[in-house]
Amino acid sequence: GSNREVIRNKIRGYCEDFEIDNDGYKRIMNLLEHEMDKGLGKETNAAATIKMFPTYVRSLPDGSEEGNFLALDLGGTNFRVLLITLHGGEVKMESKIYLIPQYIMQGSGNQLFDHLADCCAKFMKAHAISHLSLPLGFTFSFPCKQHGIASASLQTWTKGFKCAGVEGEDVVRMFHEAVKRRKDIDITCVAILNDTVGTLMSCAHDDHNCEIGLILGTGTNACYMEKLDNVELWDGDDKEPKQVIINTEWGAFGDNKCLDWFRTPYDKEVDEFSLNGGKQVYEKMISGMYMGEIARLVILKLTQEGLMFGGEVSEELETRQRFYTKYISEIESDDEDEFRNTKQVLEEMGIETFTIEDCRNVRYVCEQVSTRAAYLASAGIAVLLNKISKPEITVAVDGSLYKFHPKFHDRMVDKISTLVNPGIKFKLMMSNDGSGKGAALVAAVAYRIL
Ligand code: ADP
Repeated sequence: GSNREVIRNKIRGYCEDFEIDNDGYKRIMNLLEHEMDKGLGKETNAAATIKMFPTYVRSLPDGSEEGNFLALDLGGTNFRVLLITLHGGEVKMESKIYLIPQYIMQGSGNQLFDHLADCCAKFMKAHAISHLSLPLGFTFSFPCKQHGIASASLQTWTKGFKCAGVEGEDVVRMFHEAVKRRKDIDITCVAILNDTVGTLMSCAHDDHNCEIGLILGTGTNACYMEKLDNVELWDGDDKEPKQVIINTEWGAFGDNKCLDWFRTPYDKEVDEFSLNGGKQVYEKMISGMYMGEIARLVILKLTQEGLMFGGEVSEELETRQRFYTKYISEIESDDEDEFRNTKQVLEEMGIETFTIEDCRNVRYVCEQVSTRAAYLASAGIAVLLNKISKPEITVAVDGSLYKFHPKFHDRMVDKISTLVNPGIKFKLMMSNDGSGKGAALVAAVAYRIL
């Protein structure tokens, strides 16, 4: 018994930096709000880490959107091509996933866009699409500076992509050039958007209080509806509605080191071994691409210190990226007396001998890592809710981390409730397939005005 307590206390010691109290989260909120205001300001935007890009999407859908649309969804694990029909408030969708091989993810830009055009051609052929003028909405979920509804230059690759010759370029132009390089298709991209915007649009189609879109998937990001008066950089027209969706690109929060006071050695190691060192600091503490890896580093450290698995490290446990974020969901879903999933995960990780106490401790580590992620995202949402400051606000959420982790939603509701200003009621709503449906909705709105 007492030996168990000693070990538990030591393990707590190695994890204590993951615990941040409410004052800490309020401090994080103040920093985030400050960075967001810098992003919105004309004089301060250039040096701001959070870019707060205006999207040129000015109004939310009202259900009257009609037509057939193609959509592309690129921005993480899968690339998808979709065919979407909007009619009388109903949405019909057919889609196909295409793989992006690693050599293309880290190859040349032209190669990437040729591949996307090739997938479009295959999709259109398979679906016998002959309409030459089918409008396309492109969900491209990387930080982009938009110059109009169908023009956006990539600022920097994130999330494991690194194609040469795209940063600084207009990705819609590059896509159109790839389409022109082949003779068999004729597609016009009428709108480019971020997955956060797709998520917001898709949910706003059914819920008129929806003004925030949040992604918790491979990466994390959020967008919200802002008044034009608060967007000093706005260079579009200022007709009604005097508002625009802002893509915050909040994943970059902390890139100026303002969050270093609570980053752990595990966070620093994840960053060091990433493709984009020093960048996307907030994202690397929250999203699916990194959460499993943080947990692996903690578990590895505890094992090396002799606090788990009798000090026996397996090859899998020493392998980068080998502890998948979905394991955290599985482990936290376990019944605490049985640890069925936990045992299976440990077996998959090549750990041959472990005790029930080891299972308990592994679960504790997962909880520490995933709770901090949920609370950090909550601090961000609380800042946006306070900015919008309406009595009832719905937050549309998409991404596998939010969808599949058994406690993410509840932890976020709890934490946002303690952090948000009094008088604001909020709802977190799962948005299904925002990248596809949202792209069609944005395209529909854009097509109307072209
Ligand atoms: P994307 O953000 O790339 O569009 P997803 O929303 O599916 O796509 O997010 C993929 C990320 O979600 C991956 O990083 C993966 O680790 C994580 N993920 C997948 N399944 C689960 C799960 N069951 N629980 C938690 N995270 C998961």
